[in-house]
Amino acid sequence: MPSQEFETVIGLEVHAQLKTRTKAFCACPVVFGASANTAVCPVCLGYPGALPVLNREMVSLALRLAFATRCEVHETSVFARKNYFYPDLPKGYQISQYDRPLATGGVVEVRGEDGAPRAIRLNRIHLEEDAGKSMHEVPWDDVPTGVSLVDLNRAGTPLAEIVTEPDLRSPEEAYDFLVRLRRLVRWVGASDGNMEEGSLRCDANVSLRPAGADTLGTKVEIKNLNSIAHVKKALEHEIARQAEALRRGGEVVQETRLFDPGSGATRPMRSKEEAMDYRYFPDPDLGPLVVDARWSAEVAAALPELPEPRAARFASALGLPPSDAATLCATRPLADAFEVAVALHPSNAKGIANWFLGDLLARMTDADRQEGRLPVAPAAVARLVARIDDGTISGKIAKELFPLLCEDGADVDALIREKGLVQVTDESPIRAAVDAVIAANPVQAAAYRGGKPAAFGWFVGQVMKATGGKASPALVNRLLREILDA
Ligand code: ADP
Ligand code: ZN
Ligand code: MG
Repeated sequence: MPSQEFETVIGLEVHAQLKTRTKAFCACPVVFGASANTAVCPVCLGYPGALPVLNREMVSLALRLAFATRCEVHETSVFARKNYFYPDLPKGYQISQYDRPLATGGVVEVRGEDGAPRAIRLNRIHLEEDAGKSMHEVPWDDVPTGVSLVDLNRAGTPLAEIVTEPDLRSPEEAYDFLVRLRRLVRWVGASDGNMEEGSLRCDANVSLRPAGADTLGTKVEIKNLNSIAHVKKALEHEIARQAEALRRGGEVVQETRLFDPGSGATRPMRSKEEAMDYRYFPDPDLGPLVVDARWSAEVAAALPELPEPRAARFASALGLPPSDAATLCATRPLADAFEVAVALHPSNAKGIANWFLGDLLARMTDADRQEGRLPVAPAAVARLVARIDDGTISGKIAKELFPLLCEDGADVDALIREKGLVQVTDESPIRAAVDAVIAANPVQAAAYRGGKPAAFGWFVGQVMKATGGKASPALVNRLLREILDA
């Protein structure tokens, strides 16, 4: 890893697939995993004479993202043709935006080294269409070796490209940035944000410079990054490689490199000299995109409360520690569920938060967390906490009930009745249990009375055991004190 002698500089280019029903410039459905070349038409196949028509929803979704990142949205932006030849690009050009993008500026905050938020500036957010998919190694016998196939279902799928300024300073920061950006695209409903499935893709640019320098070093762009963890790993490897070259007195060559997940290393793909000239020009088939004040206002008004302000509100309005509030806002479904539960039992938000942060999150896999699949209805958590608070059950019984609530989605009150779990708050049976336990354990009783206060907790445990965990702990404590201290 680089020592103090170099500063790391990273900039990311992220493509988010926008969650529209149909493609960017035609009426074909956006599908994942359908039979090859079944979701295509003359427009996305690039037939001569077929004309593109812009999908309004695509723009609205990108606008949500632009507002959520505090970008400046430009009233007029322009679609351009990015020309290159590749079999998965049937028109011979990709419709993109170049010198007049939809939005510029904006920020995403990451957690800085000192724990304080740090603003990463965005350079731009622009609209473009995806290419198709080439398949170079297919498992079918009737396809000769060396023959590639192409599936154009993905051609014309709407994308937003989000480009950062070179503001990131470490692989950890890049990781945190992507976690937060992924949360944001999902939060506002712009994209599924799934890197493994390709609905979120990232190219990473990285350079080193002598510590304290203010000009940028030569950058390398890394491609083929299929998860956020890979981005971090690839950057770590690339930083070490560049540092090594610079330390030996060599220099970094400006190039594009491919990450190899197997070895964790990057290898050259193409150099600056081989870089393409895309011959950008405005697409004559599409007029300028005009986002008027009314459209902007409509999108801005429909934006949900964003994760950071929502966490801040949870902390201040409900009295939660900021880190707990932040965890509850890790995904929008989790935050929503928490708020539903609190609304149903507003007198103990903290108790509800503890169930969410403890037992509930513990039962969720990583995928559950990302996709917001909760193991239990928020109303059940609210009811459970309410039954603890009103003394019907003890916290211990609640712990035992929780898995049952998750498994068969049973009703809390029905379970309590069925299993006879109602907390015993009636004095006489508990007094009887206390008397019996003390009588059966004269040695411990003598120890307690002889000045060993620790024995008291042991007695509480014995009485709880004797009552099947159903005794009110408060009552057990009071009666034990009464009798033992008498
Ligand atoms: P290119 O013209 O090669 O596409 P851009 O200037 O458009 O380069 O930047 C692409 C991405 O690379 C941006 O995210 C930007 O922040 C980042 N970047 C640019 N220069 C550097 C550098 N010297 N080191 C690290 N990242 C950089
Ligand atoms: Zn089509
Ligand atoms: Mg560029």
